[in-house]
Amino acid sequence: MKKSIIFHLVVLVVAAGVAAFLAHDLKAKQDGFCKSREQLSRAPLAGFHKLLADIKWMQFIQYCGRTEKFDDQAVAETNVMLEELFRLDPDFGKAYETGAMMIYTQDPASAIKMLEKAAENPMLKTNWRIPYLAGFVHMRQVKGKTVEDLQHARKAKIYFDQALAANASQGYVLSSRVRADAALMADKPPKLAELIAWQTYYEGRRSPMGGMPAAPPFVAGSGKSFPAPQFSMEYMGFYGPDRERVVSRIVNLAQQCRAEMPDNPEVMKVTGEVVGKLLSDTHLCTYCYAIYGSGDHFCKECGKPVATYGVCPKCGEAVSGGKFCIHCGQGLVKK
Ligand SMILES: [Zn+2]
Ligand SMILES: [Zn+2]
Repeated sequence: MKKSIIFHLVVLVVAAGVAAFLAHDLKAKQDGFCKSREQLSRAPLAGFHKLLADIKWMQFIQYCGRTEKFDDQAVAETNVMLEELFRLDPDFGKAYETGAMMIYTQDPASAIKMLEKAAENPMLKTNWRIPYLAGFVHMRQVKGKTVEDLQHARKAKIYFDQALAANASQGYVLSSRVRADAALMADKPPKLAELIAWQTYYEGRRSPMGGMPAAPPFVAGSGKSFPAPQFSMEYMGFYGPDRERVVSRIVNLAQQCRAEMPDNPEVMKVTGEVVGKLLSDTHLCTYCYAIYGSGDHFCKECGKPVATYGVCPKCGEAVSGGKFCIHCGQGLVKK
């Protein structure tokens, strides 16, 4: 046998071995990109499925652009296009969001199915918009207080919680969650239910378990540990602009309930209790119901005078707890 033929045979065998190794490696890499690929396509796409999904996506966007009205036919076509797209790439978060928003008015059942499937996909678990939209479409189906309405509200609540757990920091996600709670109170007028739902949320955030800062283990020269700082309710858990927003929402709802249903004894009782509770741990301007702080003489929202609290009886400076005034040394603990 000629030497060159042997050489060629060796090269052939080595090349086949390397090719097999590379194919195995490439498959592992592809599976890494798209974990759920195994279940979706047996077709050997050699890693092109993501690219094909992108092309389908661009076609879909163009289709949306030239479709003026999403009637039954357009919805059916959209469902087919998206099915193909998700077969190629089941982790295409944007496509679930956009697709569901295109069809939910005409075909809420399909939109919900699409979003619920995406919300279960572990590859999309950090995307809070998908569970939020699932909850949103469910809430849009709530028209009254039938068994079906309550089912939708219950599911919506679960999805809003999932969105909040995935770190949604947008205020409207929280508002939607509270509205789902309110929709579940089937025996109450909607506005009163919303007021109770907000109040429940507020109480939860205000509870001492909410976030009492731990006292630092400070050891003074005497060897005794420094007494824990006195935190008033003002500083527990829930404060700042978020709290002000929630308080003004509650006050607004209470005012609206009283104005709209003055003859409903339940409304008058509940709103009275809610505002009373609010006033026990919050100082509200009596003109505009804005929250004001210790030592304030005028409301920062409307400029009207407010009943000042939390000032030293001797020098009149604002104090925030403690045994002595930090400005003049006056003892503050009453005996
Ligand atoms: Zn005011
Ligand atoms: Zn003082």
